[in-house]
Amino acid sequence: MSEPSVLDLIGGTPLVPLGRLARGLRVPVVAKCEHLNPGGSVKDRIALAIVDDAEARGVLTPGGTMVEATAGNTGVGLALVAAVRGYKLVCVLPEKMSEEKRQALRSLGAEVRVTPNAPPGHPDHFQTVARRLSEEHGWFLTDQFRNPANPLCHERTTGPELWRQTGGALGAFVAGAGTGGTLTGVGRFLRRVKPTVKIVLADPEGSRLAGLVREGVLGPDGRYLVEGIGSSVVPETLDVSVLTDAETVSDRESFETCHRLVREEGLLVGGSAGTAVAAALRTARRGDLDGPVVVLLPDAWDRYQSRIFNPQWMREVP
Ligand code: PMP
Repeated sequence: MSEPSVLDLIGGTPLVPLGRLARGLRVPVVAKCEHLNPGGSVKDRIALAIVDDAEARGVLTPGGTMVEATAGNTGVGLALVAAVRGYKLVCVLPEKMSEEKRQALRSLGAEVRVTPNAPPGHPDHFQTVARRLSEEHGWFLTDQFRNPANPLCHERTTGPELWRQTGGALGAFVAGAGTGGTLTGVGRFLRRVKPTVKIVLADPEGSRLAGLVREGVLGPDGRYLVEGIGSSVVPETLDVSVLTDAETVSDRESFETCHRLVREEGLLVGGSAGTAVAAALRTARRGDLDGPVVVLLPDAWDRYQSRIFNPQWMREVP
């Protein structure tokens, strides 16, 4: 057992009903507030689970180093866990990532290595560099897109929390997929305890995943601005067979819904929460649900002030 710390505050997040946005719909819509985790995102859960699992397997030992290949929320979650548990963290990020993100990781004590922008498979691609560093130095590669500890932690914590908090009255669960860990883990748990529950993918327009759920083949590849969700390939941590439905949401609808969450519900969330809630509102209009819709809000608004909350930037969004 580890000492009491801020890591004990990861998970156990509250549910808040969307009283304004969902007014008059067939069923209530309630939000799981993952943006209230100590590091500001749902990724705190997998950061802790990945480290706990690596410690238990003996692949991460006291004072050891972890290497991670993203700039986003998982980097912050891992940096938080590394700070508390006394590990070193090296984050490898491509040049295109914002200075804000590099700075946040450095502020938390992580070492940041910037690689040139390069396509997947290229020796300079940030994921290839992270893997090479792990092999050369014997550092632990956290590997969120492949690590089974990612979906498993949602199956063991997020899913059961939702079940308890709703008293089992739940018609659908709606979330986006980056690694797919959240939807896979929560979906596996909920479908086991209630086989009729709908598990709905909220997908950005331009991601190929929704096509796979609706038509059985990947959809067309496009560009989009919402961060952290959607993909052109199926991540190993996404089990498509748990998904029952998919909703496609444009950038504009995602960001406008995000603004409404902030201004009408006081929920200080990022753009992918807008995508998920837009999909949840559509789901709540369906006639075939036997309970409320639960939607997951992945992260907090502070990383998006220069973008989604900047009227000048918003004017350029198609
Ligand atoms: N929203 C944001 C902002 C994220 O960073 C992520 C994680 N990439 C997600 C949603 C999706 O979570 P998951 O990786 O569990 O699919």
